[in-house]
Amino acid sequence: MALTLDLRTIFVTGALTCFIIGVTQLMTFVTGRFTRSPVWWGASSLCIGFGLLSAAFRDTLPDVITVEFANTAMLAGCLLLLFGIRAFGGRELNWFLFGLVLLATWTLLALFPGKEGFTTRVMVVATVMALCDASIVREAVRLAREEGLRSAWLLAALFAPTVLIYAGRIILAALDQIGTTLFPQDSGATGWLAASGVTFVILRGQALLLLAGERTNQMLASLAQHDPLTGAMNRSGLEQWLAQQRRRSQRVGPKASLLLVDIDHFKALNDSRGHAAGDEILRIFTSAVRGQLRSDDILARQGGDEFAIILPGVSVREAVRIADRIRNVFRDALAIVDDLPLPPTLSIGVAEVDLRGVSLEQLLAEADEALYRAKRLGRDRVQAQLKTAEA
Ligand code: GH3
Ligand code: MG
Repeated sequence: MALTLDLRTIFVTGALTCFIIGVTQLMTFVTGRFTRSPVWWGASSLCIGFGLLSAAFRDTLPDVITVEFANTAMLAGCLLLLFGIRAFGGRELNWFLFGLVLLATWTLLALFPGKEGFTTRVMVVATVMALCDASIVREAVRLAREEGLRSAWLLAALFAPTVLIYAGRIILAALDQIGTTLFPQDSGATGWLAASGVTFVILRGQALLLLAGERTNQMLASLAQHDPLTGAMNRSGLEQWLAQQRRRSQRVGPKASLLLVDIDHFKALNDSRGHAAGDEILRIFTSAVRGQLRSDDILARQGGDEFAIILPGVSVREAVRIADRIRNVFRDALAIVDDLPLPPTLSIGVAEVDLRGVSLEQLLAEADEALYRAKRLGRDRVQAQLKTAEA
């Protein structure tokens, strides 16, 4: 005997599932765990829930509830989800388009009433939903690529199949193979499809929360590894970066240059102009340096007015040139600061370092000796580590 699933029951179950997921998503927002995005997702789940519940009463309640309202609520849910994911990705939201799509859908559905209009209505709804889900896949892939969020791949994988299912429904409707009612006597495969749909809804809800959780984790990890004043890496970030390089050094090669930079007479500047002015100089310094670095170079604040710069794959000779350039751009950048009687300068020690198997202290010690020499020789200059300078 073939097992036939009752479609109306599945719709009601689906609706209840959406309510549970929606409330869970809203609660995650209220408890402040993540950013605002779960509000969107929660609203979306509730809309889809109301849509499914109203559709379950098709042919027993008036069509205005079970057709027009049900479909528009479900589409609103899909659009809210798309908007929520776009908002999560920091994109602009077009509310005018949102309203326009809903109004147009409602009007179209009302224009094709009853059993005769069923095929056209399926095509309209399936087209909008397919476009929505395809846009969600696109947005998820972008999040995965640009932000390195692994759960975004999961999200893309959970939305791609429904694009195909909607496309299949559009084709069947175009071939007039869709029947004349949502709940036929013999629901057959449609029942199984609807039941899988409920599973999908649950998985998607989970994937969305995973996505928000992963981004929050990433942000916390990044905060813990960076200095809040300058945005440069802090000591702990540098340690972690170094550990990562040790694991990868087979590929990138061990050779690198390290610049240890200290601002000259910074204490005097702090004393004469105040701490806030000192902070401003630190920020000007980091932004000037960033303009001179490649994407895989590292700028880290060692503490106070001392910074380490690591240039992977760069020789000492080249690193000395870069260090001189940094001194010059810093001097130029200070030109915009008013009333600096004696603009601070930089002393820089340069060393060639092997990123494999040495501790951070050992690395820094190599450049520290050169920095000390630069200070002793009168500051405002670059000195290279002796063993490499001789070579
Ligand atoms: P030198 O030329 O030998 O480097 O002399 P210096 O005055 O720069 O001496 P030093 O590098 O030892 O002084 C660092 C000063 O940086 C001491 C401290 O008051 C100041 N400082 C440390 N952290 C901060 C900070 O976050 N903001 C500001 N404004 N000043 C800081
Ligand atoms: Mg100093």
